[in-house]
Amino acid sequence: MTRLDQIRAAEERLLLPTYDRNPLLFVRGEGVHLIDEQGERYLDLLSGIGVNALGYGHPAIEEAIARQSRALIHTSNLYFHEGQAELALRLTEQTGLDRVFFANTGTEAWEGALKLARAHAGLLRSEGKQIGTKFLALEQSFHGRTFGSISTTFKEKYREPFGPVVPGVEFVRFNDVTDLRGKFSNEVCAILLETIQGEGGVRPLTQEFFAEARSLASSTGALLIVDEIQSGMGRTGKWCAYQHYGIQPDVTTLAKPLAGGIPIGALLCTEEVSRAIHPGMHGTTFGGGPLACAVAIAVIDAIEKDGLLKNATEVGDYFQLQLRSLAARHEAIVDVRGKGLMVAAELDSADLAKLTVAEMLKRHILINCTSDTVLRFLPPYILERTHVDTAIKALDEIFTEHAAAQSAAQSAGGHTRG
Ligand SMILES: *Cc1c(COP(=O)(O)O)cnc(C)c1O
Repeated sequence: MTRLDQIRAAEERLLLPTYDRNPLLFVRGEGVHLIDEQGERYLDLLSGIGVNALGYGHPAIEEAIARQSRALIHTSNLYFHEGQAELALRLTEQTGLDRVFFANTGTEAWEGALKLARAHAGLLRSEGKQIGTKFLALEQSFHGRTFGSISTTFKEKYREPFGPVVPGVEFVRFNDVTDLRGKFSNEVCAILLETIQGEGGVRPLTQEFFAEARSLASSTGALLIVDEIQSGMGRTGKWCAYQHYGIQPDVTTLAKPLAGGIPIGALLCTEEVSRAIHPGMHGTTFGGGPLACAVAIAVIDAIEKDGLLKNATEVGDYFQLQLRSLAARHEAIVDVRGKGLMVAAELDSADLAKLTVAEMLKRHILINCTSDTVLRFLPPYILERTHVDTAIKALDEIFTEHAAAQSAAQSAGGHTRG
């Protein structure tokens, strides 16, 4: 029995069966590569689902963990430490928002945003304003796995087994301005958007839809809440993807790449919205701990020092350009989209998408498939053009082989029929 088989057998006995893992046992990483227990190297174009912004073994992260773990790992939010205000200052400057609450994960930041929206609507009502408690979320949305998050997540499979979910959520058709206008009223306390839907298939909002959501929310005092957990912290070449649109939300959430692999989440809001919160209303034991804050600050410093926003833009543009030229040669690719290093190629069949992920794995390249037919690439921000070339060459081979196999099957089929 290999080490992988032993671990797999033990997990099958001991863990809740929540994951359908790939049969790979990674033991370390270097730059954009993961290395398995047999020393085989894999090009990682997924970076732990958009988390490992600086790749693996980055000295800035190693140094911050070593230094902070010697000094202080945890104190709770009963006391001050040196990291929260400093990290909050960076994040408020980057997002254009005024105040921060630190959590541990994306879903926890999102729960905070939902609670904040309800509390803010309550405050407005106490000031004599007419505003309800309803949320408008989008079809194909994904906001996490806790109750508020699944309630505002579109796919039935995430909600239905756990019902009843939190009531008062209505889903609007993606980028459908008429549907948004029709469902918006002063019953709504917040409109919930991802600037670029991640799990939903790397789908960007249109300028028109985003602008309409902003102006509807402003017209009643409802909040525009933008989930940047996957698209934020530089992945798209700007700190937040909403900055590509020139639209400012009232609330945003960050998590995945924020501390380069150490768990952290952040909820940011305007000064006006923050009036709804007072001490004791919301909190967390671990959130915003000294270790996570120190590492997040080190990650931000490294992104700035190494020019990684520019790199994400340039290598991301190159990636999309190469995928477009691949699409011109292969009919199976029906769309290429994304921004910076949040990139997708949509295929014409779910079977082919599954096969492509498996074939890429055989070639030691890690990607995934979301929304059935969409190949998703969320590489580390340190990605170089040569890595893109490697991936494109592998995809080219896979689609060429697939097309050849299909036409062989067709002509064989033709003969039998003839
Ligand atoms: C991953 C993700 C979440 C949930 O984050 P977790 O850390 O897994 O709880 C929420 N929203 C978006 C857009 C995400 O991509």
